[in-house]
Amino acid sequence: MLKKSGKVKSVVKSVKASGKKSNLKRVYFFGAGKAEGNASMKDLLGGKGANLADMTMVPLPVPPGFTITTDTCGDYNDAGGKLPAGLMDEVRLNITRVEKATGKKFGDPKNPLLVAARSGAKFSMPGMMDTVLNIGLSDAAVAGLAALSGNERFAYDSYRRLINMFGDTVMGVDHEHFEHELSAVKKAKGVELDTDLSTADLKDVVARYKAVYKSHVGSEFPSDPYKQLEAAIVAVFQSWMGERAIKYRQLNDIRGVRGTAVNVQAMVFGNMGEDSATGVAFTRDPSTGENVFYGEFLVNAQGEDVVAGIRTPLECNTEMGKWSKKSWAELLKVKNTLEKRYKDVQDFEFTIEKGKLYMLQTRNGKRTAQAAVKIAVDMLKEKLIDERTAVLRVDPASLDQLLHPTFDPKAEKTVLAKGLPASPGAAVGKIAFTAAEAEDRVGKGEKIILVRRETEPADIGGMHVSEGILTSTGGMTSHAAVVARGMGTPCVAGAGGVQIDLKARTVTIGGKVFTDKDYISLNGGTGEVYEGQVGTVEASLTGAFRQIMLLADKHRTLKVRANADTPTDAQVARNFGAEGIGLCRTEHMFFDPARIQAMREMILARDVDGRKLALAKLLPYQKDDFLGLFKEMKGLPVTIRLLDPPLHEFIPHGTGDQERLAQAMGISYSEVVNRVHQLHEMNPMLGHRGCRLAVTYPEILEMQVEAIIRAAVEAKKLKITVLPEIMIPLVGTVKELTYLKKFLIETADRVMKETKTKVEYMIGTMIEVPRAAVTADKIAAEAEFFSFGTNDLTQMTFGFSRDDINSFLPDYLGKEVLERDPFQSLDTEGVGSLIAMAVEKGQSVRPDIKLGICGEHGGDPKSVLFCHSVGLNYVSCSPFRVPIARLAAAHAALLDPKVGKGKKK
Ligand code: PEP
Ligand code: MG
Repeated sequence: MLKKSGKVKSVVKSVKASGKKSNLKRVYFFGAGKAEGNASMKDLLGGKGANLADMTMVPLPVPPGFTITTDTCGDYNDAGGKLPAGLMDEVRLNITRVEKATGKKFGDPKNPLLVAARSGAKFSMPGMMDTVLNIGLSDAAVAGLAALSGNERFAYDSYRRLINMFGDTVMGVDHEHFEHELSAVKKAKGVELDTDLSTADLKDVVARYKAVYKSHVGSEFPSDPYKQLEAAIVAVFQSWMGERAIKYRQLNDIRGVRGTAVNVQAMVFGNMGEDSATGVAFTRDPSTGENVFYGEFLVNAQGEDVVAGIRTPLECNTEMGKWSKKSWAELLKVKNTLEKRYKDVQDFEFTIEKGKLYMLQTRNGKRTAQAAVKIAVDMLKEKLIDERTAVLRVDPASLDQLLHPTFDPKAEKTVLAKGLPASPGAAVGKIAFTAAEAEDRVGKGEKIILVRRETEPADIGGMHVSEGILTSTGGMTSHAAVVARGMGTPCVAGAGGVQIDLKARTVTIGGKVFTDKDYISLNGGTGEVYEGQVGTVEASLTGAFRQIMLLADKHRTLKVRANADTPTDAQVARNFGAEGIGLCRTEHMFFDPARIQAMREMILARDVDGRKLALAKLLPYQKDDFLGLFKEMKGLPVTIRLLDPPLHEFIPHGTGDQERLAQAMGISYSEVVNRVHQLHEMNPMLGHRGCRLAVTYPEILEMQVEAIIRAAVEAKKLKITVLPEIMIPLVGTVKELTYLKKFLIETADRVMKETKTKVEYMIGTMIEVPRAAVTADKIAAEAEFFSFGTNDLTQMTFGFSRDDINSFLPDYLGKEVLERDPFQSLDTEGVGSLIAMAVEKGQSVRPDIKLGICGEHGGDPKSVLFCHSVGLNYVSCSPFRVPIARLAAAHAALLDPKVGKGKKK
């Protein structure tokens, strides 16, 4: 018989044990106030097992049972699906202990003990693995249960549930077959609900279920309780390697864990009548963080009824007191006991059997970012936790949820396609096909989603005004993604299912055709594209959020700057707590309609004089840009990078646009075309860009340096302190730097002389070409600071194009050739080694060299940990990630054993 996972099951007949018996302890008992395990044993007993042991010792009312270790699951899988020798002997011994604690006997026809077998790994994987309840029932035992409970209906109801669950979960008989029989009986009896079936009806259901079992499995439903238990243990072990569980571990970055534990525990029944119930609860509200009991329960029901959603559960807060004052009071007490014990929000399951409360599990509750922040701050105030714990409690990456509007969870959504979650947030708007169209229509008051194959620098204006950006190609560091994150604009990139027909002005997504009249909605946090207008809710930065940020600042040693190109970006960055600008990409300033013409004139000029003439037109604009940034940053450091992209990005490629350009410049169309051909490169990202442009055209560098120094002089006159850090990009050999520094210093000196004002400035370089990292000692002799451009450094170290990686990245991730997208999370092993080497070499020549990072990784928490560990001074990231980087930097410091022992930078 095949189980859903496709594995052959032969466990019911006989399970061959693997290997020799050893003295290794594989089973840990808990019950009657004593436990062999404890809360610190999550590796071995899983989260559930460790906490069951711990709750037993509190003591809280936990039904007795035992935990089979996670290592046993690992050994089972290593042995190719064989239970270790001696395991079932240990299990039998522990069943005897459970029998003693409950006064019942496993399989006994008069006083039967029933048990549940539940999975429980070190990290909670809700619903991903198997559970079997009511183990121990048989034709003989069911009569005993009926007599014992005085409730024959309940006994047969439990029996039919076991046959269904065992058949489905353990033997792979499709649940549908059982459901079919149940429906047939209900139909014959003319009833709708399971609860309306009589005892006789349920006996009929049991008989039918057994027949279904026999016809699909080929043998009778096993009456031996140990056979049932052994098969259930195997099923739970196998579910560890089930598709669902593997996927969940991948998605949640759970690695290096050998297997799941199995918790075998005496059954208690929430379905024994109107004085019984079952429920789940959180000790605080997991969505708002409010300190209130948050739970639901169902009277006369078993756990799976709550999950199946057949009946609507009742809210504990409003209903439980009406149902049972005693149980409600007990649960409120449990809330406090749990929080005092575990010092975190608990998510727990309980059952009330004939008025008596039992705890079935407790674990740290999953929560939204808003709740995480509030709970951390509240628990600190309540003195439940200390400052360090409060800061470490909040996952930096989750703060993203607090920084952008989100979709209303209650809104209806139709998912059309899924791409990469390139820039978080919710966006709703009508489709526009070009950046110019977006600008035009936004100007007329429309809300726009810009839908492009891929964006390019010239689209910046349209991107800026759009609510969201959707691209059909490109990766997480493609142009669209980087720019959108910088702007805080939601973006879904690389959505392969989106087909754009520019001529017909249609977009086909999931077989549906949309035009510029249609609305779509983007979820930049999940990568989902929805049909129509989905309702949103504004994210609010609560007081608790600010408080956790202040605590983070107190503990971090790494500074946090922002990548910002305009005074508006700079203002956002400062509001989020940026301590400077780590990267101003000056190229974005040239796309303004007032300047692009001069830029193009410069590119098309026939000689140096022509270029200088055009550059002179750009100079006043650039000076104002920099002055604006200096004013906004009020004395904080500002790193300005000289022109980086290849020149072809500034030239129009369409015939019409080129004709218009020729006309405006008074030159022939063919001259424009020739220059465009000249600028064409097979690999522009490895081409004529960065400092290579300035080597060919030093006058571009001179204009930009003049603008920076003039802006600094003006700022000084306005009594604004400025510290410009002039950064030369894409250096690979120190000679590039030496050559360009000459022009840079000459220009700065000239301006200072002319204005009779001296201003401080620094000259540094980006380390983004592997050769620069390898020769960093030589480069440091000429550079006062390094800023690691990890976007290009990753691109060039791996040889992966940052714009095209998405064509194969999903395969690499799916097949685990790569653990993560290296453009999102720094490859510490490879790219990180280059950084560490450059830091060491740089400091060996210039001990006080300023070190930062300005690639996208500067806003990624894992990468921030790395930056701290190699001793960088700051990270720089998009303004909307500044709070994330601040918190990640605090985590890095708090987890660093060296910090606090005198190593403060
Ligand atoms: C980098 O390469 O990491 C960088 C910051 O520069 P850009 O992304 O502009 O190439
Ligand atoms: Mg770069």
